[in-house]
Amino acid sequence: MENHERFLLIQLVVPCFNEEANIIPFFEELDKADLAQAESDLRFEVIAVNDGSKDQTLKTLLEIQKERDDLTVIDLSRNFGKESALTAGLSEAGGDAVIPIDADGQHPFATISEMVALWRQGYDVVLAKRNTRDTDTRLQKWTARLFYKAHNQLSDINIPADVGDFRLMDKKVVRVLNQLPENRRFMKGLFAWVGFRTATVIYDVQPRSYGQTRFNTWKLWNLALEGITSFSISPLKIWTYVGVVVAFLSFLYASYLVATTLIYGTDLPGYPSIMVAVLFMGGIQLISIGIIGEYLGRVYIESKNRPSYIIADIYKPESKTDSF
Ligand code: UDP
Ligand code: MG
Repeated sequence: MENHERFLLIQLVVPCFNEEANIIPFFEELDKADLAQAESDLRFEVIAVNDGSKDQTLKTLLEIQKERDDLTVIDLSRNFGKESALTAGLSEAGGDAVIPIDADGQHPFATISEMVALWRQGYDVVLAKRNTRDTDTRLQKWTARLFYKAHNQLSDINIPADVGDFRLMDKKVVRVLNQLPENRRFMKGLFAWVGFRTATVIYDVQPRSYGQTRFNTWKLWNLALEGITSFSISPLKIWTYVGVVVAFLSFLYASYLVATTLIYGTDLPGYPSIMVAVLFMGGIQLISIGIIGEYLGRVYIESKNRPSYIIADIYKPESKTDSF
């Protein structure tokens, strides 16, 4: 891949998890878009990452590979999740620019030309921002908005709303991302964290070609937790202040109790107030311990230093394997 003088190599990184029905349409659309045609100094390649699919995704990819010289297939040893699949794809990418794109047809190829135009103007990152969330339910829209709000309030970096993994990154951005040592990766956050000169294009998110989204509510909730805990420690620090407030209120209440006892004598019936105080404090303590647990768990996992994915095989196109 050392042909930088002759052309610019742009690599599409495509994470695939049980996408057998979408693979063929993906390449049909890609060929139809004919991205390189308009600008002859560009070359496009696809790095497909099979994220432990249980269906015929890998087989379909390898079938297609026989007919193309622009497809590399990375086969992970099991399902590691989209974040890890992307990480694997990025680590293998050596092109001048890399564009993560979904396999399900939701990201239109036409947008890529706009991204490339801005990249040529000198932007290192070109974000694709979705025009609408019309394919989402109202609850999804609301929770997405809540997540971005909470995240951006709590952490030092701002994740732009409605921007996903679909974006163009110059090779120097990819290099930085590949050097980050952490193995639990919240890509959206890392993408934002590394910075660089950034432009944005708008695109219309398409309906999924075949099948259902691979993210259910529980997975999304965990992704949101991952996002917040990996970029902010405010949830940990907040307990100091909650503690101070509660202690202060307790002090006021205690003074009141002492005063009334001195003035009116002991008045034993105090059961409700004791119960309320005990339960309230118990609840607060459990929540704070839970939050510490969230972080401690992440420290624990990170400290094991396991890789975030395992590559079982890399299949290069015929033409490339010969030259090795
Ligand atoms: N994906 C993956 N591993 C997973 C889940 C999803 O590689 O564990 C891929 C999936 O095949 C698709 C992309 O990530 O190419 C986005 O997934 P999906 O369309 O289900 O998510 P959504 O578009 O709803 O965010
Ligand atoms: Mg999708």
